Amino acid sequence: MTPEMKSSSQRTPQRTCVACRQVRPKRELVRLVRTADGRVEVDASGKRPGRGGYICPARQCWELGLKGSRVEHTLHTSLTAENREQLIKYGEGAGQITRQRS
Ligand SMILES: [Zn+2]
Repeated sequence: MTPEMKSSSQRTPQRTCVACRQVRPKRELVRLVRTADGRVEVDASGKRPGRGGYICPARQCWELGLKGSRVEHTLHTSLTAENREQLIKYGEGAGQITRQRS
């Protein structure tokens, strides 16, 4: 870790992927948000209210985070089978989901 890396990382908000625990710039991650009824949805805007977690736009992270309990643990909720399935499907298209404009 050089001093230059440190100062550039202070300018960019960093978040940790709930699945692989890698720290990445927030804009490179996908935000998951827990809705008022306890479901977990993809927050494409990154601005929805509610407890959120961040995950890499990589299929293996979605599988790791959703098939295990990491997402549920982070968001303090229990996923229904249907909700989990829906998110895993979203993750299968990961890679195309990073190009959002802010
Ligand atoms: Zn990850």
